[in-house]
Amino acid sequence: MKKGTKLIISAAAAVTAAVIAGTMCAFAAKAGNGDVNGDGKVNITDITLTAAFVKGKRMLSDKALAAADVNGDGSVNNTDITRLAAFVKGKRNLDGSEFAPTGPVIEVKNGVTYVDGILVVNKSYALPQNYGNGLTAETQKAFNNMQAAAWNDGISLNICSGFRSYSYQSQLYWSYVNRDGQWAADTYSARPGHSEHQTGLAIDINNASTSFNGTREAKWIAAHCADYGFILRYPYGKEDKTGFMYESWHVRYVGKDLARKITDSGLCLEEYLGIDSYYH
Ligand SMILES: [Zn+2]
Repeated sequence: MKKGTKLIISAAAAVTAAVIAGTMCAFAAKAGNGDVNGDGKVNITDITLTAAFVKGKRMLSDKALAAADVNGDGSVNNTDITRLAAFVKGKRNLDGSEFAPTGPVIEVKNGVTYVDGILVVNKSYALPQNYGNGLTAETQKAFNNMQAAAWNDGISLNICSGFRSYSYQSQLYWSYVNRDGQWAADTYSARPGHSEHQTGLAIDINNASTSFNGTREAKWIAAHCADYGFILRYPYGKEDKTGFMYESWHVRYVGKDLARKITDSGLCLEEYLGIDSYYH
């Protein structure tokens, strides 16, 4: 207790001395990094230390003062505490600026939408009418590899529907609308231009119907498709994010690295990229 008391007195004395000298600048006036205790993190401990110093209750080393002077004005005061607090709360950068928005980068090239470099087609993003010309070579090759691996496991996979042109999708969609009405059709069939099948990157495997769910083949696809660069594009429980019902048969080629990341994340593509899917 005695020791603590002594420390407080000496800290107060030091602050007084500094104020009398007309400056509290015992360190170079450049923006500090906020890591007052030098533990490699900026958190509540750094705020507490800085606040104790500003109240004259605690001494700080020159190095700690330099770190605490986050606005780099050569003095450690309430402004620095405010900035540190905003930073620790995740509201602002240490220099007081707003955190830059970290939303997806959406680019449209020749009418095709790329989100963070990934071609996206859903209810929000469509393709031009003339886009597409069969499955892409990479998609076909990846499917062939997956098909061979499945065969070795005693599982037979084949392409039930691959590329679908705009005009073919238009026929399909309107036939469903005539049969079930537009509201129902929109839950399981994409409007022309909004079908992933027009990308040449999507494949329906074996049987594009709910009777495929839960089959050995569907389970094999869910467990292994990422190894070949595919994701289950319309996962169970993500209907409100993808805009479509669960489809155990529909895979989308994104490449092995991304397929692994997306699958391991447990997110659907819309969630992974931070985008929506609804008809605007
Ligand atoms: Zn499909």
